[in-house]
Amino acid sequence: MRYGNIKKILVTGGAGFLGSHLCERLILQGHEVLCVDNLFTGTRTNLKHLLNEARFELLRHDVTFPLYVEIDEIYNLACPASPVHYQFDPVQTTKTSVHGAINMLGLAKRTKARVLQASTSEVYGDPEIHPQPEEYWGRVNPIGFRSCYDEGKRCAETLFFDYHRQHGLEVKVVRIFNTYGPRMHPNDGRVVSNLIVQALRGEDITLYGDGQQTRSFCYVDDLIEAMMRMMATGPEIAGPINIGNPSEVTIRQLAEVVLDVTGSSSRLIHRPLPPDDPRQRCPDITRAREILGWEPTVPLRQGIEKTVLYFDRLLAEHRL
Ligand code: NAD
Ligand code: UDP
Ligand code: UDP
Repeated sequence: MRYGNIKKILVTGGAGFLGSHLCERLILQGHEVLCVDNLFTGTRTNLKHLLNEARFELLRHDVTFPLYVEIDEIYNLACPASPVHYQFDPVQTTKTSVHGAINMLGLAKRTKARVLQASTSEVYGDPEIHPQPEEYWGRVNPIGFRSCYDEGKRCAETLFFDYHRQHGLEVKVVRIFNTYGPRMHPNDGRVVSNLIVQALRGEDITLYGDGQQTRSFCYVDDLIEAMMRMMATGPEIAGPINIGNPSEVTIRQLAEVVLDVTGSSSRLIHRPLPPDDPRQRCPDITRAREILGWEPTVPLRQGIEKTVLYFDRLLAEHRL
């Protein structure tokens, strides 16, 4: 049931890094938000400023089980995103992507809700085409350590497009490239959090491999804006649409920015490259520019400064 432009919006994975920022933005817009999360990598702390808000509800629930609620829109973000977390229980990771997608699509079908899938640049695997446009089908190892995540997300995209074609569902698929910012998990092993925490503690900074592999890092506020614009597109727009920052840097360059911003005297050291680690990754965001009228606005250094402030406070509060 809608009251004017106020919607009941379900955010799965809403207690995580991206989900908590999304819940916050939706509440600010005046919507009612139901956050569903099993708190595997997400925390109530990420939502502490929303827990007393009457229009916000947190439900501890695993999306691999059916969910019967009445809603107008669904953002499906539930899934651990960092390699350390998604490889902890790989079978559960695939179940979360696949069973979770089926349940959210079934829910969307019954309630006639619009449903957005947080897909990933990992669907391109270790790409032979650079930068990656949406038409590229990817190069993914089906049986490696990253496969539970990559293939789970690929299968979820298949389900979204089959529910769209077979049942006429309004679906929206965004492929998210590396995103960073406050509320990243300090121990999740992702490069931005690892490097900042190491620099702040004066520990050695770990570059995996030669540090010449590239990524492109998008600040969280830009990313959330793109997701919300995608949800607001007309029913003819299903995607997939790449969202991320097309400004590509090597991991060594990222480490240098982190050292500069923190003023840390940590040393750069090398560690072995994890298996199947993509050599290059950079989005082609032509579609996002044309369809969403969107592109990132926060430069890397500015985003790193905000993220450093967050981790500095977090480490001090928890004496980590
Ligand atoms: P995150 O780990 O911080 O958040 C994921 C959330 O999902 C957590 O709160 C976790 O507890 C919850 N969750 C996991 N399994 C669940 C289950 N079975 N049932 C209910 N909740 C479950 O990760 P994030 O960075 O916020 O990523 C959010 C989404 O965006 C994920 O789907 C991820 O694949 C996608 N994504 C993120 C990035 C990025 O750079 N952060 C890049 C590409 C895609
Ligand atoms: N489902 C759900 N909530 C709903 C409706 C469906 O969680 O409100 C789940 C249910 O477990 C079902 C799945 O979504 O198995 C897929 O639903 P669909 O209607 O597509 O298929 P079916 O019910 O025929 O299996
Ligand atoms: N990486 C690194 N040092 C770290 C953590 C990661 O050099 O402490 C590298 C990692 O090997 C990869 C890149 O940084 O090449 C991005 O890693 P992340 O796990 O953040 O994301 P993904 O590989 O999924 O893009």
